[in-house]
Amino acid sequence: MTPMPLIFAATCDLAGKVRGKAFPAGQLEKRLKRGVGWTPTNVMINCFDGIGDSPFGALGDLLLVPDPATEVRADFGAGVTEHYMLGDITSLDGEPWALCTRSILRGALDRLKRVAGVHLLGAFEHEFQLKGAPGIRNQGFGREAFELQRRLSETLMAALQEAGMEPDSIMKEFGPNQYEVVVGPDKGVRAADAAVLLRELTRSVARAQGEEATFTPIRDVASVGNGVHIHMSFLNDDGSPATYDENGACGMSALTSAFSAGVLKYLENIVALTAPSAISYERLTPHRWSAAYNNLGFRDREASLRVCPVTAKDPASIARQFNIEYRAADAAACPHLALAAVVHAGCQGIEEGLTAPAPTEEDLSLLPPEELAARGFVRLPSSLEEALDRFQSCDVAKGWFADPFPAVYRAHKQAELASIAELDTEARCAAYEDTY
Ligand code: GLU
Ligand code: MG
Repeated sequence: MTPMPLIFAATCDLAGKVRGKAFPAGQLEKRLKRGVGWTPTNVMINCFDGIGDSPFGALGDLLLVPDPATEVRADFGAGVTEHYMLGDITSLDGEPWALCTRSILRGALDRLKRVAGVHLLGAFEHEFQLKGAPGIRNQGFGREAFELQRRLSETLMAALQEAGMEPDSIMKEFGPNQYEVVVGPDKGVRAADAAVLLRELTRSVARAQGEEATFTPIRDVASVGNGVHIHMSFLNDDGSPATYDENGACGMSALTSAFSAGVLKYLENIVALTAPSAISYERLTPHRWSAAYNNLGFRDREASLRVCPVTAKDPASIARQFNIEYRAADAAACPHLALAAVVHAGCQGIEEGLTAPAPTEEDLSLLPPEELAARGFVRLPSSLEEALDRFQSCDVAKGWFADPFPAVYRAHKQAELASIAELDTEARCAAYEDTY
């Protein structure tokens, strides 16, 4: 029998998982218009394949419509070509569905265009770990450990390029068997699409080489976490950069300053969307170079939002390279949802006319709570339960998401939490590393 080539139409859902359905490749033209059938209650499937109380029950029909701009066709030599596309979830009439993560991000980007007249350029920097025991120890940023995975790294970079990304760099990160891979920025929704494709490709490339890759937020609390750092800059309609001003504080334009101030103001309310697993809060603790407070850093890696260094020397190139980095995210989050939350918070800062605070240059964990409060610093939530409460209790942040998103998100996450309620931290880490 000759196998029939299939294309998998996929969505990255509230759990940050990539799910969907395959159709015969010969039907592509039809499927680009009509999609594949999808079920509302699927949105309640959590990262452990549990299913929370669904407001939809057995009712309703949706379409998942593949977008050919996200096509991945990759052959890793195992004799099988992976072929998939991300898509939008719509009603049967083609209206965007309120729980479609790509549509949610599109809404946030439209708001940015409306309030500031700019487009977003984004790049997701990912850390991941290979699950096996490290081949060599003591290899933080090591060349030898890099060489051990040179084939994996070279295959992955080729696959990323083939999928339309611009490979930037890959390295052996600090942690045991930890690697970091970076691609160049992409415009709008494509930046989040690229993050999804990068995770999928990394897992597949690793598997094809007998390895297993995990993007879990943290494997072992005695060691380092796996962060997702979202780099953002702004472009005017004509493509000129709008992020930098040589006379602005830390080089930020007024727009960047207001956007950053909004992100910092609402950070405690949005981490439930950007760091959405129970163990995400083991990573978001001081001294991990992740994020523990709502502070701005000027090149400081112990800040939630960082003004990144530029290597260019001439003013035009500096303006193009200049970007800010959101560090309180991880790969349990759907990239589209995480970016939507950050962009909405930034837009809110622009609408409220805020100005970014001065960057911190000290260890905030040493300050007493009264001083932190007096200086406007908030310790980020220390559990997912607390993060969900801070999202739900903030009418402004909740209001950025159309109904029924806030209630559905809470129910989805509550079911996830209930399923691991009896597990200790080590067992929770093991459960999450199996799913991300
Ligand atoms: N592993 C750190 C994190 O969890 C980031 C380290 C770095 O700055 O690259 O975010
Ligand atoms: Mg890193």
